[in-house]
Amino acid sequence: MRNVLMVVSGPSGVGKGTLVKALTKKRSDLVESVSCTTRAPRENEIHGREYYFISKDEFIKRVADGDFLEYDEHFGNFYGTPKSFVKEQLQEKSVVLEIDVIGGLNAKKAFPECVLIMIAPPSIEKLKQRLVSRNTESTEEIENRMSRLEFELSKKDEYDYVVVNDDLSVALEDLEKIFENEKNK
Ligand code: ADP
Ligand code: 5GP
Repeated sequence: MRNVLMVVSGPSGVGKGTLVKALTKKRSDLVESVSCTTRAPRENEIHGREYYFISKDEFIKRVADGDFLEYDEHFGNFYGTPKSFVKEQLQEKSVVLEIDVIGGLNAKKAFPECVLIMIAPPSIEKLKQRLVSRNTESTEEIENRMSRLEFELSKKDEYDYVVVNDDLSVALEDLEKIFENEKNK
């Protein structure tokens, strides 16, 4: 058995957050990394739980200090994975990162033993419905996120696994099987 660093990526609204939350709730041997971001918190988001919400100046300083395993800019905001958190947690448990494909591919360069998992939607229409019904972005932001979809999915061959999130419980089972399999390698 080993502790693994899993990276879960996929287009916005595909169900990454839902799946990762469900898996970490079920598995006490898996913890989610908390990223830093310069975007404003959404209603119900708590500093230190969904993200560490920091200023752009602080983010830039931490980049210069080499504090991030990887970082990227999305929709005008920066997002990064704190290196120290991941390394400390991996001593005890497996760690899952919920990040975009570029971040995932960069994480693999920095940490080649990490496992890349792409979550794909059953269809583009269903993905849009989910984003609309999540009701957390404006129409313009939803269009922005949809326009990135093709790019995100085009990277799936560089990922180790693809999980289609149609029925949530089936996708969760698939994700847990991958986790088990990788732990036992
Ligand atoms: P992401 O983290 O990838 O942006 P979320 O986990 O926030 O996506 O999911 C987007 C929306 O879709 C949420 O409202 C969530 O409850 C819903 N959702 C997630 N998975 C499914 C599924 N398999 N079937 C239907 N709705 C889903
Ligand atoms: P959101 O604003 O919807 O929470 O996230 C927007 C995008 O940022 C998503 O694609 C999400 O996966 C990505 N993201 C979140 N945290 C990180 C991170 O630490 N690094 C990178 N590269 N992307 C991240």
